[in-house]
Amino acid sequence: MSIERHWPYFVPVCDCCEKQLPGEESFRNAVRAKLDAGWESRRDGDDWEDICADCLFEEKGYGRDQ
Ligand SMILES: [Zn+2]
Repeated sequence: MSIERHWPYFVPVCDCCEKQLPGEESFRNAVRAKLDAGWESRRDGDDWEDICADCLFEEKGYGRDQ
């Protein structure tokens, strides 16, 4: 799981490029901020990994204006 605790904030961190989003005051808000930013959570074995919109773009090779 890649929402890090930086007291008093919860900070979403991309597992691919380690980019961070601004900290949120609750875990739930951090999850929402991730989704709002176009991030994707996926299962990696027993863990979850979070991929930011930039890395998804790189991975898929296309953008929303194509
Ligand atoms: Zn990334």
